[in-house]
Amino acid sequence: MDALAAALTGRLVRAEDDDYDAARALWNGVTERRPAAIVRCATTEDVRRTVLLAAEHHLLVAVRGGGHNVAGTAGVDGGLVIDLGEMRDVSVDPGARLARVAGGARLGDLDAASQEHGLATPAGVFSDTGLGGLGLTGGIGWLRRRFGLTCDNIVGATIVAADGSVHHVDEESDPELLWGLRGGGGNLGVVTEFVVRLHPVGPEVYAGFVVHRAERAMEVLHAYRDWSADLPDEVSSMAVLGAAPEDDAIPAELTGQPCVIVLACVTDPARGPELLAPIRDLPDPAADLSGPMPYVELQQIFDADYPNGMRYYWRSVHLPELSEEALRRAVDQTYRRPSALSTIDLWHMGGAMSRVAPEDTAFGDRSAPYLVGIEANWTDPGDDEANVRWARACAADLDDLSTGREYLNFPGFQEGGQATLRAAHGEANYARLRALKQRMDPDNLFRLHQNVAP
Ligand SMILES: Cc1cc2nc3c(=O)[nH]c(=O)nc-3n(C[C@H](O)[C@H](O)[C@H](O)COP(=O)(O)OP(=O)(O)OC[C@H]3O[C@@H](n4cnc5c(N)ncnc54)[C@H](O)[C@@H]3O)c2cc1C
Repeated sequence: MDALAAALTGRLVRAEDDDYDAARALWNGVTERRPAAIVRCATTEDVRRTVLLAAEHHLLVAVRGGGHNVAGTAGVDGGLVIDLGEMRDVSVDPGARLARVAGGARLGDLDAASQEHGLATPAGVFSDTGLGGLGLTGGIGWLRRRFGLTCDNIVGATIVAADGSVHHVDEESDPELLWGLRGGGGNLGVVTEFVVRLHPVGPEVYAGFVVHRAERAMEVLHAYRDWSADLPDEVSSMAVLGAAPEDDAIPAELTGQPCVIVLACVTDPARGPELLAPIRDLPDPAADLSGPMPYVELQQIFDADYPNGMRYYWRSVHLPELSEEALRRAVDQTYRRPSALSTIDLWHMGGAMSRVAPEDTAFGDRSAPYLVGIEANWTDPGDDEANVRWARACAADLDDLSTGREYLNFPGFQEGGQATLRAAHGEANYARLRALKQRMDPDNLFRLHQNVAP
């Protein structure tokens, strides 16, 4: 360890260091970990040296991108964390519509740099998430129906394999490895730089934000189902069953009360009013905050809702349709939640993301038109069991109506294990990922994040 510490451009943080607790802290307070050391890498060479040391001494290794994995896979008790949090540079080539993004960059870093040129890549809806974990495992956000999943837009990478070798990957040099990085998770090595495709977006988009009281939930969801069934790719939306947020435009007596919110992003702001009319014209909304908004701002609207260190457990199921029974169960389950911070989110999928064939990326099948995100969010450690039980019960309740696939970025504590992974990737993709794993990491050094065993 001392030799590694001396050789690093970055810094090794150990338990006796003042900043150890800050360095090991993860977004999800439920997933506390105490690593032997955290290597704050600053360069690909730092990563390479750390990987070699870990492999030589058979250390358990966690890789940390943005540190926001729900299952806490960016930490490890007693092992070594390869922390990419110092590596957040983004450089944009507007002519080529490409960005080079360091392996620890947050979505906010990428959005800010690419929006300077009126460009963006599809990512998630929370700006502090790491591109690394989100993009390697899929990535669904406000541009998913227009420009696909985040992983569909990864066109190159620099990756350090378990033997310390450094690979520069693109469609020409290594199409199979690039295929694996599009949805294969943290299995294949440490990505120190991504190259992502950018698209013209913004600076303004049209944001939909319509709030109704929970008594109207079924009526609003019926309208949402009818509206979303026939939308152009320009609109990505979701219906959130939860509580009304605090906002000047929302009646104060509604704050924290059960409600349903329809949220949307229309990439062409001029078409926003027309495309959102069927949802906005529903009678008697509690509030309608819809309007043009800078894309960068839309990417940050949830930032205050998910503070670091709070307690979280998230699951998901894909639905082939918003059947009456599915909607009824979702509504019933939501308003039984033990924490008013928890939500059930109906994401409308389809569009560009669904036109990529299952075998074209490691991500797998995208045919389900709706994803149900089940978010248990709470504050008191004494409530852990009740909240986790609630989210598991919701997933179980919807299971017989679902496609049987979960979204691997909303993985609970990864307790679904191999069965969940195989179902998500599909058997043929799983076999291909396994072959790649044998090539890049035959001794399974990188095994904490949704592990495809070699
Ligand atoms: C508040 C919040 C909102 C979210 N919203 C969305 C959303 O809108 N859409 C969506 O799709 N997902 C969303 N997610 C889920 C998110 O995609 C996952 O939690 C993801 O794992 C976060 O990535 P990270 O890099 O921050 O996490 P980390 O915990 O740092 O990484 C997770 C794992 O990914 C791997 N990894 C990360 N970076 C690298 C790298 N550079 N090289 C190799 N492996 C790496 C590692 O194995 C690591 O353990 C959200 C999560 C949060 C916390």
